[in-house]
Amino acid sequence: MAVIPGAKELLAIFGGKPVRSTLLPYGRQTVTEEDIAAVAATLRSDWLTTGPKVAEFEEAFAAKVGAKFAISFSSGTAALHAAVFAAGLKQGDEAITTPLTFAATANCILYQGATPVFADVHADTLNLDPDQVRIRITRNTKAILPVDYAGHPAELESFLKIAEENDLTVIEDSAHALGAEYKNRFVGSIAHMTVFSFHPVKHLTTGEGGMVTTDSEKFAENLRCFRNHGISSDARDRQAKGQWFYEMVVLGYNYRLTDIACSLGIPQLQRLDANLARRREIAKRYSTAFQAVPGVMVPNVRDEVRHAWHLYPIRLDLEKLTASRGEFFKALRAENIGVNVHYIPVHLHPYYQQRFGYRGGEYPVAERAYDRLISLPMFHGMSDQDVADVVLAVTKVAAAFVHEP
Ligand SMILES: *Cc1c(COP(=O)(O)O)cnc(C)c1O
Repeated sequence: MAVIPGAKELLAIFGGKPVRSTLLPYGRQTVTEEDIAAVAATLRSDWLTTGPKVAEFEEAFAAKVGAKFAISFSSGTAALHAAVFAAGLKQGDEAITTPLTFAATANCILYQGATPVFADVHADTLNLDPDQVRIRITRNTKAILPVDYAGHPAELESFLKIAEENDLTVIEDSAHALGAEYKNRFVGSIAHMTVFSFHPVKHLTTGEGGMVTTDSEKFAENLRCFRNHGISSDARDRQAKGQWFYEMVVLGYNYRLTDIACSLGIPQLQRLDANLARRREIAKRYSTAFQAVPGVMVPNVRDEVRHAWHLYPIRLDLEKLTASRGEFFKALRAENIGVNVHYIPVHLHPYYQQRFGYRGGEYPVAERAYDRLISLPMFHGMSDQDVADVVLAVTKVAAAFVHEP
């Protein structure tokens, strides 16, 4: 059935025909025959873990983002934990981060016994607001953890300036932003440490996996030590040198990424540019289509960045709609569009509420955004038909819920 823009059509949630017959997820990996062959070759090799593929993947990754060092981890969360360790955070220290993120960004501060302090976000990008960070700095503050929300780089220049003035470490959570650029530089080459995730919904996948990039030799050494039980040299090194002696010098973890995983990451990384181009194309189509849809607000992109589009979060203009975000969300799900919400602000999770006494209202910009956000499907493997289905479904649902003029 053809849809006349603005015309009302019976929504699937009210018994109408859904836009699609199968659910389109909000994110999904692409794995090629080449990837499978690369992993199979590793399975037949001498090294399943901490062998040549780890070094190859790390070197290729560092070169891609323009960093001196890239240190791989078993997950993005493990990578965040290691970065917080490398920055020297311990009990009594504080680190400032955004409430509008995945819980892991704040949890990693708690892992080291330090205290996460939240600061509110900007209404346009939903990224951490440097002015809000400034007013939360105390003598105990040791680090700032900005997040590149949805793939839009954080205000790195401001955070580096604040860090310099206050002797802090900037740990950028770039789990959403591999390939994004800030003032013509890739994220991963700018902050003191930058953290990436290779979960299947992210820009490239190793199943589970993560990476920290840095230009600091000292951070790199601490990161390598931390992921390997706090031992000062790795097994392959020792085998090469014919040594048995090793020393555990700090309390580390087993956070190593395997050769199996890295052999998947290598060809995935080679396709990053093509995948980014596809995500940017999809975002452009969405933004063009939704510009004219009343009740739907598209993401803002600042001039100084190139967005990496891990997510495409629309915000509802609730004043123009008869539906809440929850109803709008359910209506899209009924059309078989696999929407999601990023994120429930971290301070509103029961654990944080109970431990720190948050009750809501502390971070009004993030909380207001949370009530309006819906992440539409966004992944490089989406077909043109998938994109058209999302555009049609959002247009149809918005038309049904918009106030009569
Ligand atoms: C995905 C993600 C992480 C955690 O990564 P994992 O690899 O799943 O551990 C951390 N921060 C943000 C913002 C993320 O989106």
